[in-house]
Amino acid sequence: MSDAGADALEHLLAVQDLDTTLTQLQHRRDALVESSGLAAVEAELSGLAAERAQAEGRRDALAATQKGLEDQIGVLDGRRAEVERRMYAATGSAARDLQAMNDEVRHLTERRSELEELELVAMLDQEPVDAELATLAERAAPLEARAAELRAEVARSAQEIDAELVAAQAARAEQAANLPPALAERYETLRARLKGTGAARLVGNRCSGCHLELPSVEVERIRALPPGEIISCDQCGRILVPA
Ligand SMILES: [Zn+2]
Repeated sequence: MSDAGADALEHLLAVQDLDTTLTQLQHRRDALVESSGLAAVEAELSGLAAERAQAEGRRDALAATQKGLEDQIGVLDGRRAEVERRMYAATGSAARDLQAMNDEVRHLTERRSELEELELVAMLDQEPVDAELATLAERAAPLEARAAELRAEVARSAQEIDAELVAAQAARAEQAANLPPALAERYETLRARLKGTGAARLVGNRCSGCHLELPSVEVERIRALPPGEIISCDQCGRILVPA
């Protein structure tokens, strides 16, 4: 099988090179978000989003406090209007009753101004939080714009890589069609076991798969073999093809 065998080994190396290319392309594609800088920008944005959520939580709590105080003031106002209405209607009442109603109105008025002070505090406390939220939004705006640019860039690169993947897959299929089934199977088994490389070149005294040098005697023996002989690297087990 020497000529056909040598031919098959050439196709095998071509398949190996294309498999290596495919793996590299896939890695490049998988790393696009990281390598483009998008991952870093998104991490910064999510840090800002966490700060914003925290500030919004504080602002919402203050707004709820303010709303609660407003509701209480509303109840007091209703109560005071009711007592005053009774006071004005009670022309014939005893002085003692009028005094009691008067006291209640005074008490309600005092209580109201206490609640108003608390409401004012809750409102004022919201101001720095609103300022903080505005600052966070200002910081996020350019990052959002940058992230949008990078996302578009990543999508474009991914598309380019996909086109290269399709081309490499087609070329690989074409080369693989020339491999004897037994050789193809052996290659696939080795490739699965040996980090994607099932076939290696013998370059000088070195196996390009494991990068170790072979003993000179072994190299001489290999080079003396008829072309197309299938041999393995003693050290890594990969199919070794003399360059
Ligand atoms: Zn090796």
